[in-house]
Amino acid sequence: MQYGEIVKVSGPLVLAKNMENANIQDICHVGDLELIGEIIEMRGDVASIQVYEETSGVGPGEKVKMTGNPLVVELAPGIMSQMFDGIQRPLDTFQKVTQSNYLKRGVHIPSLDREKKWLFQPTVVVGEVLEAGDVIGIVEETTSVLHKVMVPYQVSGTVISIETGEFNIEETICTLETESGALKKLSMLQKWPVRRARPFARKEKPTHPLITGQRVIDTFFPVAKGGAAAVPGPFGAGKTVVQHQIAKWSDVDIVVYVGCGERGNEMTDVMNEFPELIDPTTGESIMARTILIANTSNMPVAAREASIYTGITIAEYFRDMGYSVAIMADSTSRWAEALREMSGRLEEMPGDEGYPAYLGSRLAEYYERAGKVVALGQEGREGSITAIGAVSPPGGDTSEPVTQNTLRIVKVFWGLDALLAQKRHFPSINWLSSYSLYLNDMSKQLDQEMNAPWSKMVTEAMTILQEESKLEEIVRLVGIDTLSDTDRLTLDVARSIREDYLQQNAFDEVDTFTSRDKQYKMLHLILSFNAEGRRALSLGAYYQELIDGTVIVRDRIARMKYIPEDKIAQIDKYEILLKETIQKILEDGGASINA
Ligand code: ADP
Repeated sequence: MQYGEIVKVSGPLVLAKNMENANIQDICHVGDLELIGEIIEMRGDVASIQVYEETSGVGPGEKVKMTGNPLVVELAPGIMSQMFDGIQRPLDTFQKVTQSNYLKRGVHIPSLDREKKWLFQPTVVVGEVLEAGDVIGIVEETTSVLHKVMVPYQVSGTVISIETGEFNIEETICTLETESGALKKLSMLQKWPVRRARPFARKEKPTHPLITGQRVIDTFFPVAKGGAAAVPGPFGAGKTVVQHQIAKWSDVDIVVYVGCGERGNEMTDVMNEFPELIDPTTGESIMARTILIANTSNMPVAAREASIYTGITIAEYFRDMGYSVAIMADSTSRWAEALREMSGRLEEMPGDEGYPAYLGSRLAEYYERAGKVVALGQEGREGSITAIGAVSPPGGDTSEPVTQNTLRIVKVFWGLDALLAQKRHFPSINWLSSYSLYLNDMSKQLDQEMNAPWSKMVTEAMTILQEESKLEEIVRLVGIDTLSDTDRLTLDVARSIREDYLQQNAFDEVDTFTSRDKQYKMLHLILSFNAEGRRALSLGAYYQELIDGTVIVRDRIARMKYIPEDKIAQIDKYEILLKETIQKILEDGGASINA
């Protein structure tokens, strides 16, 4: 083992000399407490080490132990349902070992359980020739996740032995004879350096929508599976709720949730809340398909910097198994602040607002690890990572560097709006400023999946909302009386789209999730109201007649979001009611206005 010597400690940054044999990105154990750190810069024999634990009390003269290894994550059964810190220390085991709720320093415990036995069921036989990425067997890790054990990267050969039965993650379950005749023993455990993207066979264009059950997202601003989306919004605008909703409801196999402590107790909320949430497709706790990476604000900044790499590496591992994965980072602004703080301590030349010049490339490196890929291996499994990042720009000002750099990379922008949040319009995604560059690409796919001219309906609804904003301008200038009857109807329909469709209460048992069938029926009914209303006006009905005559129908439209999924056929009846109502208005012609 080789040692260097600490010369300076500055918060999470430690400088050590005599480090000529170390390399950038190597992990070291710093000081007498053996704190975990990573080398982020080398100048001559002096290493700058980013330390992932609180450095108080550590001082010059103490030793730095070089490990020669990069920061890795452990990948094996036992990873699912876990809560880790930014460098994959398991929080519950940590609490047991240290008997403390706070992370004690210098305690080294393995990321994954070494004792637990897993029932390994082989999927290959002796004599088969395998490549990296081929699945050698499966483990039922949780009720929702079948863990596929894969041949590690750069390993290939003929199966000499394959086990079946209960094993811990370090025991040999398979032996391969490589081309050179060497024997390679495989266990269920793999390690991977977090700062390196896991390789795949090829990348594909993301074309399938991620269904979130959130109407404004699925309808207007969908993200593709394998795509990337950003949710910028000021404090209190609903970023966390949006992310939680997606983690709970989206139709992915695996969720990795990286919380970079916006508020100290926020991760505690996630930790308490998630296990109680039920996955609608399996009826099990959503933790059965979720991994949490938690950085509360009382953990050192440096651990935040590492956390999103730890998260995305775990996501890639499950992608390689052929799963669709969603990774959520809340919030990337806190992560960027960690980057800024380290950069400042390294005395690098500051860029925009003090962030380092490489902020944009770091963000890009992260989001580029999202995508839809064909995994390594002979099977040609397809997997995807959808990356969703919350951004919390100070004061809600989206012209700041983190938001701007993020928007350069991601194709979906869910712009949360403080004004909407104030009016309690949730989710406060602004329908005029938000966008999804996947919408056009996916429209054919969506129409096919929905078996309806869905994309036409979406365009129509959006046009009405845009029309509304123009009309509102006119109303502001010259008053509502100048509007034609059809324009007034447009305002009513737009209000209905906003209030009855886009507003969605995350905390209402029924409203929290809307299937696509229900979204279709809801939007269809609102657009029918628009079409039928226009027809009535064109046939001579007065605006006021139309409004007075449709009180009941409009009331049904306002309440349709609360119709449970198993009763949505009810909405079809409202379509009939609507037509009958309009027919009656036309037949009664002028009655209500004259009464
Ligand atoms: P942020 O993370 O942007 O600071 P939060 O996600 O914590 O904001 O949201 C702030 C509050 O707004 C929540 O506590 C909740 O009361 C309300 N809210 C946000 N989104 C919704 C929603 N979809 N339905 C109901 N209430 C919401």
